[in-house]
Amino acid sequence: MPPSSIAAPLLAWYDAHQRVLPWRARHGTAKANPYYVLLSEFMLQQTTVATVLGYFPRFIERFPDVNALAASPLEDVLSLWAGLGYYARARNLHKAAVAVVEHHHGRIPNTEALLRQLPGVGAYTAAAIAAIAFDEAATVVDSNVERVMARLHNIDTPLPTAKKQLTQLAATHTPQRRPGCYAQALMDLGSRVCVSGVPRCGVCPIITSCAAQALGTAATLPRKKPKTLRPTRHGTAFVLFRAHDDAVWLRPRPASGMLGGMLEVPGTPWLEHDTADMAPAAYMPMAIPFTPLNKPVEHIFSHFRAVITVSTARTDEIPPDAGAWYALDTVPTLALPTVMKKILKRSIAL
Ligand code: SF4
Repeated sequence: MPPSSIAAPLLAWYDAHQRVLPWRARHGTAKANPYYVLLSEFMLQQTTVATVLGYFPRFIERFPDVNALAASPLEDVLSLWAGLGYYARARNLHKAAVAVVEHHHGRIPNTEALLRQLPGVGAYTAAAIAAIAFDEAATVVDSNVERVMARLHNIDTPLPTAKKQLTQLAATHTPQRRPGCYAQALMDLGSRVCVSGVPRCGVCPIITSCAAQALGTAATLPRKKPKTLRPTRHGTAFVLFRAHDDAVWLRPRPASGMLGGMLEVPGTPWLEHDTADMAPAAYMPMAIPFTPLNKPVEHIFSHFRAVITVSTARTDEIPPDAGAWYALDTVPTLALPTVMKKILKRSIAL
């Protein structure tokens, strides 16, 4: 079977085995809701399907359509997003919803080119929405598709160098018929059959086209450049409780940059070098004695590991910094990044 004929067996396999996901149209039913597709694609950037399944229904309940999302304050979107990580996605999702309402009369743009103009929509996301929601013959390439292409064509150039070549190869397979289902079929195949490590070639619908399977190299592909080690950044967080009711002092982070627009516990910057010369007192919310806890909080971000020393104090005075007191029972509903929730949890448990 030549490689170009993978579409037919893949589509037949998809019709029989597709994953049922709340943002997908079922085989033989109406088309997918473009808003659901857009929302799911924002969430799926750097997050697994299993995790997104826990968040997607809550978003749909709170923001049932793009108008509701655009009309909501960013703060509400960030609160619901808390725990999903990569918060720039939530800010861009909100901006994209506003752009859809302001420039597209509340209808999700229906071509890859128009979708690319929305905030936070890169090449992959635009192609995925265009294909899945509007059946455009766009070539959708995520890490699953890269893996399938590397094996199908036995490409041993390491990633990320091979990305361009794998995208070009993927484009040669994109069919004109049912391109949306084909894109999802290929992604499903990569996540369930052509898995990383040892693939399940015995149940693969395109095994007769696969060069790596024939050559016995599948489990070694795709090759990857060795990872550089994650550096460690150190910092100190100052958790200030209001003495008479245990409310906690939180401040907003700057609107742009890492965890932008969310709330945080006041603290020092997080730095890779020794922080002994940083004069942590200069970063306290107010000049009163803070007591350090024994054990720091650790949190893994995509590009570094944070080790945060936590110090606590109690007062009934109002700190001079920008910020506000928040009752502890409201913490679960606040737009607080996971690392800040960990810091608060450690401080409350002491
Ligand atoms: S035959 Fe094996 S390696 Fe090739 S595409 Fe199928 S699962 Fe992947």
